[in-house]
Amino acid sequence: QSQELSQVQIDYNAALQVLVEDGTRMVCTGRMHTDRICRFESLCYSTEAEEFIYFHSNSSVMLPNLGSRRFQPALLDLSSVEDHNTQYFNFVELPAAALKFMPKPVFVPDIALITNRFNPDNLMHVFHDDLLPIYYTMQQFPDLDLEARLFFMEGWSEGVHFDLYKLLSNKQPLLREQLKTLGRLLCFTKSYVGLSKITTWYQYGFVQPQGPKANILVSGNEIRQFTKFMMEKLNISLEESSSEEYIVVFSRTINRLILNEAELILALAQEFQMKTITVSLEEHSFSDIVRLISNASMLVSMHGAQLVMSLFLPRGATVVELFPYAINPEHYTPYKTLATLPGMDLQYIAWQNTDREDTVTYPDRPWDQGGIAHLDKAEQERIIESTEVPRHLCCRNPEWLFRAYQDTKVDIPSLIHVIRQTVKSKPGPKKQKWSGSLYPGKVRDAKCQASIQGTSEAKLAVSWQIPWNLKYLKVREVKYEVWIQEQGENTYMPYILSHQNHTFSENIKPFTIYLVWIRCIFNKNLLGPFADVLLCST
Ligand code: UDP
Repeated sequence: QSQELSQVQIDYNAALQVLVEDGTRMVCTGRMHTDRICRFESLCYSTEAEEFIYFHSNSSVMLPNLGSRRFQPALLDLSSVEDHNTQYFNFVELPAAALKFMPKPVFVPDIALITNRFNPDNLMHVFHDDLLPIYYTMQQFPDLDLEARLFFMEGWSEGVHFDLYKLLSNKQPLLREQLKTLGRLLCFTKSYVGLSKITTWYQYGFVQPQGPKANILVSGNEIRQFTKFMMEKLNISLEESSSEEYIVVFSRTINRLILNEAELILALAQEFQMKTITVSLEEHSFSDIVRLISNASMLVSMHGAQLVMSLFLPRGATVVELFPYAINPEHYTPYKTLATLPGMDLQYIAWQNTDREDTVTYPDRPWDQGGIAHLDKAEQERIIESTEVPRHLCCRNPEWLFRAYQDTKVDIPSLIHVIRQTVKSKPGPKKQKWSGSLYPGKVRDAKCQASIQGTSEAKLAVSWQIPWNLKYLKVREVKYEVWIQEQGENTYMPYILSHQNHTFSENIKPFTIYLVWIRCIFNKNLLGPFADVLLCST
């Protein structure tokens, strides 16, 4: 991989002329700064001012043209973390004529994806905020192929996981600092700015306590397409199913330790009659960890970023997350949310240490490793006495950090007990067929016929045809839901039916107009769309 930009020969004078005459052209998708990605031609960047520059000319385009709303608060989020004020993107504007007085531009010929990494030293953030969003942003725009180049503008150095970012494209990603060595004024021939948030499942608690995102749009299928890509790039092939089944304990070696790890491993091996191995980020290569996890039956680990590796587990495997004393598993669910995404097909189990005797605290460490010595005495007392960390905002809550960085002696019988509540026989990858859930289409040809009996009673016979896609599917159970609503009323009578026709007589009045809503339901919970409403007069 080469760091030089000029692999593609460009005619410098022609490029300069295009920039001066055409200026910058920008067209974006998204209605808000939080869902916007912009495509630019001739977006420039001053490495001295550390600002992007938009050059106006007779041919420049700026869509959306927001006027000063461009600063309220920004044009777009440069990272996948929503509306974070350290991650905003904007440009300054100049007339193209100003180029005469500026440093000679250096042109970037590669198609560029310009973005921010959010926290490249933390593996959860690397996958959730950066790798998955970059991968799917590149899928969204066809010219962001493997020959595109990534530009990371957050200002961090490479970080410990830089090799993972390198897998996403054939060209070496460039960091903000490195741009200075290329020139004073860089102009990106073609670039995309921003990052898709469509795959993210967790919010870290900047404005409300952390938790799953309100509207998750990703399923296990897309996660697994991404992990397949990563494994191909890492040269890891899925092993034969015949090989031995085993459990992986993912341990931390610096902090948040399992104090009786040897005992834990022995107990797991004995209980499930499986080989049990430990891995850690400190002692194993990333590829080795992926290779081991991608064939494991169960992954056991302390709460922490390393658990994001459960995205490499095979379908049917079990994730066991261990929580230190006073940390409520329900309040910290990035890995639970991941494991339980529809179609991830993982079993998730949380265990919490509830015994004060089994925890080791570190009040005298620096604050960012959970120390509390800097707090006043009363507050220290309160924290030490507390049995549960109250919900809190990110990121420097000392009580949370104090509890998060405890070491734990795992109570083996209680752990085995909670695992056994979920894993009845042997855990492990099930050779299951594709069980993707497909939804019914609309029911067809809905009809109704009314009959009146006397002055106070009436009947409504309603019939319909099966949804069009049903004849191509094997569906375990097909049901129909019918709502009958008297016109002008806002309540309705709901029915669940097994057949394609039914005669309603309960509460049906003569000389009344009814609205009839019908939809199909597969396997109890796959609700289809309602067909066009049927108007029935008795
Ligand atoms: N880490 C690790 N071993 C340790 C402590 C941390 O591998 O003993 C890794 C961890 O997986 C994460 C990074 O170092 O990728 C930062 O860890 P931190 O405790 O700050 O974050 P957390 O794991 O709580 O998200």
